[in-house]
Amino acid sequence: MVYDTQFDVAVIGGGHAGIEAALASAKLGAKTVLITLDKEKIGVMPCNPAIGGIAKGIVVREVDALGGEMGKAIDYTGIQYKTLNTRKGPAVRSPRAQADKEEYRKYMVNRVANTENLTVIEGEATNIFLKKNSNEVEGVEIDGKIRIKVRSVVVTTGTFLEGVVHIGDKRFPAGRMEEKPANKLPDFYRRAGFPLLRFKTGTPARLDRNSIDFSGLEEAPGDEPPPKFSFWTEPAGSYWFKKGQKEQVPCYITYTTPETHRIIRENLHRTALYGGAIKGIGPRYCPSIEDKIVKFENKERHTVWLEPETKDGISIYPNGLSTSLPEEIQWEMYRSIPGLENVVLLKPAYAIEYDIVPPTELYPTLETKRIKGLFHAGNFNGTTGYEEAAGQGIVAGINAARRALGKEMIYIKRDEAYIGIMIDDLTTKGVVEPYRLFTSRAEYRLHLRQDNPVLRLYKKAYEIGMLSEKQYKLVKETEEEIKQWLQRYSEQRIKENGKSYTVFEYLKRAEITVEKLREKNIPVPERDYITEEIEIQAKYSGYFEREKKLNEKMKHLESIKIPPEIDYSKIAGLTKEVVQKLSKAKPITLGHAARLEGITPAAITAIMVYLEKMR
Ligand code: FAD
Repeated sequence: MVYDTQFDVAVIGGGHAGIEAALASAKLGAKTVLITLDKEKIGVMPCNPAIGGIAKGIVVREVDALGGEMGKAIDYTGIQYKTLNTRKGPAVRSPRAQADKEEYRKYMVNRVANTENLTVIEGEATNIFLKKNSNEVEGVEIDGKIRIKVRSVVVTTGTFLEGVVHIGDKRFPAGRMEEKPANKLPDFYRRAGFPLLRFKTGTPARLDRNSIDFSGLEEAPGDEPPPKFSFWTEPAGSYWFKKGQKEQVPCYITYTTPETHRIIRENLHRTALYGGAIKGIGPRYCPSIEDKIVKFENKERHTVWLEPETKDGISIYPNGLSTSLPEEIQWEMYRSIPGLENVVLLKPAYAIEYDIVPPTELYPTLETKRIKGLFHAGNFNGTTGYEEAAGQGIVAGINAARRALGKEMIYIKRDEAYIGIMIDDLTTKGVVEPYRLFTSRAEYRLHLRQDNPVLRLYKKAYEIGMLSEKQYKLVKETEEEIKQWLQRYSEQRIKENGKSYTVFEYLKRAEITVEKLREKNIPVPERDYITEEIEIQAKYSGYFEREKKLNEKMKHLESIKIPPEIDYSKIAGLTKEVVQKLSKAKPITLGHAARLEGITPAAITAIMVYLEKMR
């Protein structure tokens, strides 16, 4: 049966990628359908109840600057907010928030249900059919029965394709715990000639708050004032909530013990990972506790954060303790940790294996090279994390809609946003393990900061119709005000100890803040956002210039030859892993080296410095 309604865009999957794709597509005026297995599970957080983190928090603000939803959702439903890396420079700071995951899910369910141009169909996408004798999508089949016609399709199936859950030696098909997998769509991909890879990820047990003794544990409170993710939520035009605006709950810190490590070592053969049941490749940067114990043999203890999953509920997420041990050993292992001596497990930890399509099958627009009108985003591209999924989802949704409406597709460049870095990495280097974002992946790290996503992206977002006139005006005026203050401070002079400086020069000093200027009766901006920007611009202007010059140099990488006899182990600053990779791959130029998987911009800089010294 063919549904008589024609849609412009179909999005398959209501996870973090699918939500942003569907909302963006609908916002751009494309008639959009979101097909998902369970419409009450739109926006579920299957792993940690948190949004943001290093680099990831910047991505959430970029999604927000592009007109996406994730930042607003977490601003409304967060229960603890922090800025990470405050002791380091502004380039690596990033916001992170604990979510009330139930409220977050409800927010997203409502948001999707109440969006113009967007229809939700609950069901399984079982096939994608193509136009006759062509490699172009024509529609999607639902539950093997209904066919709907569309112009573009975005696939965001997360961990569901041929998903298999592992708990010790027990294994069963599932897309996530207590959810059925989607096993039909992979047949379409095989028929169409796409390669499929198996990846895996895991999640810890959930613990009963009432069975935990918090009395001897370290408390980890939120920041005051808390950082915001969205530039548009109240107070609009800022990345900060007002002091006291948010009621926050604490998290707690505890540590594994020698007893925990003994239990894990003795039962290693019973884990799905080391027992050989799991063949998929797991996330190196979010390893299971058994992985950490094996790989960091000499580490005496590992940190565990106890994070509430909701504001008032009893479920606690023990961050750092994901495992694929059998359930009965999990009880023993968790109970060997201070504070958890009598803990009750509400749900066991588990690992999951699933299918992905290598992202090298995609253009940077996220459209597949094999089939026109077919886009991929999220975990299905081999990434891990809600934020990475949202960042790809919004780009795929924008492009699916633009294609359907006969407009040119867009892509985001590496110097514009972390989203651009991620998509470029994925589509050019591919993935050999679940990909997550880090600040070290960026060659424009000082430029791609947490404080300026809206300034970096608002023009692009407005031009394509993702931001309203009012939003555009707010950022434009903000940008102009920043320029005016910078101009004024570069002219106005201040005297101290008989010396005269421009206010801008004076502000460059580490101990001088805008607050200090106020004390000296120098006029200062009223808005916290403008104050912050001006301080950062002044304090780091020298570094910005240096980064700019270095990047110009980086553009010449292709012409810099690497002598074949080079000994990478002699280069300071390269990790063992990087030395091994480079020694094996034998890149012929620095440009070639930079394109290898796992070779960071920092490593390239180290080689460049070494080569310069050799000359
Ligand atoms: P998902 O959020 O998985 O959403 C997929 C959606 O697609 C679901 O709504 C599903 O119903 C729907 N769907 C699938 N197939 C079909 C179909 N054929 N038809 C219709 N609908 C379909 N991330 C980390 O960063 N660190 C971790 O440690 C981590 N651990 C994880 C542990 C587990 C057990 C799981 C399940 C996930 C974990 N994640 C982790 C990954 C994180 O959940 C994902 O990165 C994120 O949710 C990806 O979003 P997504 O939109 O790509 O997919």
